[in-house]
Amino acid sequence: MNYPTSVTDLFTQLCAIRSVSGEEQQVYQEILDFAHAQGIEVIRDTGGNLILTKGTKLPALLLNAHVDTVPHIKTIEVQEVAGLLTNKNGEILGADNKAAVAAMLFFLLGYDGEQQVQLVLTYGEETDFGGSTSLDLTLLNGKQGYVFDTAQPIGTIVQHTGTLLEWEVVCTSMSGHSGLTYPNPMVQQFVKVGEVVAAMAQLPDSRCNVAQLQSEAALNVISPYMRFAGEFRSMNPVSAHKAQDLLNGLAGDMTTVKITVCGEGYFIEESESASLCDVLESFNKRVVLQQSYGLSDVHVLRSRGLKLINCGNGARFTHSANEQIAVEDLELMVTIIERLVATF
Ligand SMILES: [Zn+2]
Repeated sequence: MNYPTSVTDLFTQLCAIRSVSGEEQQVYQEILDFAHAQGIEVIRDTGGNLILTKGTKLPALLLNAHVDTVPHIKTIEVQEVAGLLTNKNGEILGADNKAAVAAMLFFLLGYDGEQQVQLVLTYGEETDFGGSTSLDLTLLNGKQGYVFDTAQPIGTIVQHTGTLLEWEVVCTSMSGHSGLTYPNPMVQQFVKVGEVVAAMAQLPDSRCNVAQLQSEAALNVISPYMRFAGEFRSMNPVSAHKAQDLLNGLAGDMTTVKITVCGEGYFIEESESASLCDVLESFNKRVVLQQSYGLSDVHVLRSRGLKLINCGNGARFTHSANEQIAVEDLELMVTIIERLVATF
């Protein structure tokens, strides 16, 4: 990486370094070498995340962004047309989340204040949250901070998010002749699972999905195996508990149930986001408090005790070939970060 002439230049350089989830080593190495060359304190934690630190006054203000992107084939070449950045090669741009990586790193390059700022660069956000799950929290000198990882206008604050459960129900039986064994035990299990899915889909403030259905048998044979898997998302903690009770109620001799809580929902109180709102309003940005069923590193890190707030970064159409971000928004993010640090 060369010393950037602007945040757009830095963004362009970062996007050109391939970092699809699972292939983040090159971008980490480039940022590590660059930080060393610029005299910025930088370490890899035991989980593999990169942490850059400047300033001495504690507690530190945290900035977090993920370096990985969803898959693409060709090298990402950023082009600017009338102030809008897109990928010349007609695939994702990588603004999710390199827009934030660029804005935060560009801010850090020019920063020489006393307030300590720690930039935490995570990996695997698009797949299994490997970075945020394994982040060594003992290396962090503060608990509060900001993330710009939502493809919404700058001014958006993700205030309320849902809990996400992944669920799996597996039914097994002694197979048999489907015309002679009656009632058919697998049909009975199938109906029970269907009733639970129907009940979960009716729970308030929730989204239920059946993503995978598998069975193994020929016609005329009672299936020895059925597997159902999906997700359940809810803004409502009561619904999230009820869904788990419903699923667990299926467990028995023939049926096993596995539920993984991938992320606990959270709600950000007004007092926690007050200074962020002041900063956004000082840039004449309309503050929009948003509900989101999406899952991000912020879920994982908040459930681990960090008070991070996820904000809009101005990008649009992320994860698609139309992904774009305005130069103006990249530049605005840098000045917003400057003010957040100055008023911390
Ligand atoms: Zn993202």
